[in-house]
Amino acid sequence: MGFVVAIDGPAGTGKGTVTKIIAEDLGLVYIDTGAMYRCVTLTALRKNVKPVECDELIEILENIEIELKPNEENFLNGENVSAQIRTPQIDDNVAKFAALKVVRDKMTLLEQKMGKDGNVIMEGRDIGTVVFPDADVKIYLDCSVEERARRRYKQNLEKGIEISYKDVLESIKQRHKLETQREIAPLRQAEDAILVDSTNMTIEEVVEKIEKIIKQKMK
Ligand code: C5P
Repeated sequence: MGFVVAIDGPAGTGKGTVTKIIAEDLGLVYIDTGAMYRCVTLTALRKNVKPVECDELIEILENIEIELKPNEENFLNGENVSAQIRTPQIDDNVAKFAALKVVRDKMTLLEQKMGKDGNVIMEGRDIGTVVFPDADVKIYLDCSVEERARRRYKQNLEKGIEISYKDVLESIKQRHKLETQREIAPLRQAEDAILVDSTNMTIEEVVEKIEKIIKQKMK
């Protein structure tokens, strides 16, 4: 196994942003596992497949090809879906598909393959608990739910997506409930993970804090 950094935490903590910066600063390969669950969800919605373990879903998983390019563009069976996987519709459905065992088994396997040889920084919900329980560094990035909703609301506005703060807050709360209460690989802080609460921190402060922790382990 190469050097593995696991960054877990709920949606809207700034995980994606800080992980990308750290990857670049420290020369690690950035892997966004949420994008993979989003690709499965997009395919299922396009084919009208419901979030239950059925033959159609198994077929989707058997044939899915996900490519996470270094420039953060995500390809699904050869198609660039970087924008399509980040819509409110995907936000509202992804946790239902991510709760299914067939989906998690397949994604976990793909993630373990991606991290096997290289030096990676992988962000998600279960990286430190399930995918790489022996990761060299484990960070649990948290943040208050109101601040998370504020950040997601701002991101949506920047992308031209109009959805009220109240609806964003509701959607984030709903997703959090599904992610923390699911039976398989629920979102939780690994016992040996270091907690970083970003509620009152800037992106730069979070990056600095996590890089310091990683550099100590890299020595
Ligand atoms: O991080 P992001 O919001 O893009 O993740 C999308 C969804 O994928 C999450 O809401 C979660 O339900 C699921 N996910 C997961 N396990 C991971 C990464 C993401 O269940 N390791």
